[in-house]
Amino acid sequence: MKIGVPKEIKNNENRVGMTPAGVFELTKNGHTVYVESTAGEGSGFFNADYESAGATILNSIREVYLLSDMIVKVKEPVEEEYELVRDNQVLFTYFHFASSEKLTKAMLKSKAVCIAYETVEDDNGTLPLLTPMSEVAGRMAVQQGAKYLEKPIKGRGVLLGGVPGVPPGKVLILGAGVVGIQAAKMAAGLGAHVTILDVNMKRLRYVNDVMPNHVVTEFSNEYNIRKHIKTHDLIVGGVLLKGAKAPKLITRDMITEMRPGTVIVDVAVDQGGCVETSKPTTHEAPTFIIDDVVHYCVANMPGAVPYTSTLALTNVTLPYILQLANKGWERACDEDPFLAKGVNVVHGKVVYDEIANAFGWNV
Ligand code: NAD
Repeated sequence: MKIGVPKEIKNNENRVGMTPAGVFELTKNGHTVYVESTAGEGSGFFNADYESAGATILNSIREVYLLSDMIVKVKEPVEEEYELVRDNQVLFTYFHFASSEKLTKAMLKSKAVCIAYETVEDDNGTLPLLTPMSEVAGRMAVQQGAKYLEKPIKGRGVLLGGVPGVPPGKVLILGAGVVGIQAAKMAAGLGAHVTILDVNMKRLRYVNDVMPNHVVTEFSNEYNIRKHIKTHDLIVGGVLLKGAKAPKLITRDMITEMRPGTVIVDVAVDQGGCVETSKPTTHEAPTFIIDDVVHYCVANMPGAVPYTSTLALTNVTLPYILQLANKGWERACDEDPFLAKGVNVVHGKVVYDEIANAFGWNV
């Protein structure tokens, strides 16, 4: 199979869909890999590294799309790429379709086969291709939140760890999944007081077992959320309803109840956000302020640490890329029902219920 790796063109996205190690494995299996020139530079991988692993370097993104049977990327195609996607081409990347009707319609029009990293499952129902990026984003959420709590950037002026004689800051985490637990770990490591909410008692029991005593679990409901937003300095949104839009756990009126300088890091913004006032931002302009509450809503947080993120992502995507390349997408998905869960759009049809539901369409 001919596999293409374009350079990401989303704002400040420096990750790349394949490392030279991936090229090496694919060419060893008899496949041809086209890599757009400088695609890996932002992550520390250069044209010469790809070439020595067996790739052919192409100078334009157009050529990569034109020559490849399968495109391997990181983020969803941006508008300039829509017309490059071809009928029958397989795209294997993050799509997050439920948060963009425009993207969904463009991919339907292209008649391509869109296999979304974020809905591939494993045998215990977790999302193996989302996990490493959630690990990165969860850890980063606290690093960023701690920064934006500083007064010169309009935060409350609170040092999360406190100092001797001064109590630590308070971090509220919505969702005790991968993002939530990694955020809790970082916040607890800084010495902050952490409250973590979830509707899944199994997750709360796990957090309670593995975290230190200053990480407190509580059931997630509107009453508890309203209570905690008034006293916490940093709020991290890490909820997920698989393949669907995030529930708005923090509504517009709740923002006015927060103290000035409270920071919200809505990690779930890539699925629409779990805060009503969230809207996606970029690494160039990561925050905006509503009613004195700082909102950090970067939709591709791991893009800021591309070296770590590219390795973490490609470690887990490569085995699936090999299956897709070796068997073709239909046989690979027939033989692996967990990979098949990643198939979202096929030849002009949405085949994943939650996406159609998000737009009120019938599958
Ligand atoms: P996950 O499935 O591991 O965890 C989500 C948790 O949310 C689950 O434990 C679930 O029980 C909980 N939840 C559901 N409804 C809830 C409610 N009403 N109240 C409290 N908790 C509730 O998911 P994850 O891997 O941690 O990902 C979380 C979100 O972060 C996703 O939307 C994901 O796409 C996003 N994400 C964003 C970035 C970024 O750069 N912005 C990067 C990685 C992941």
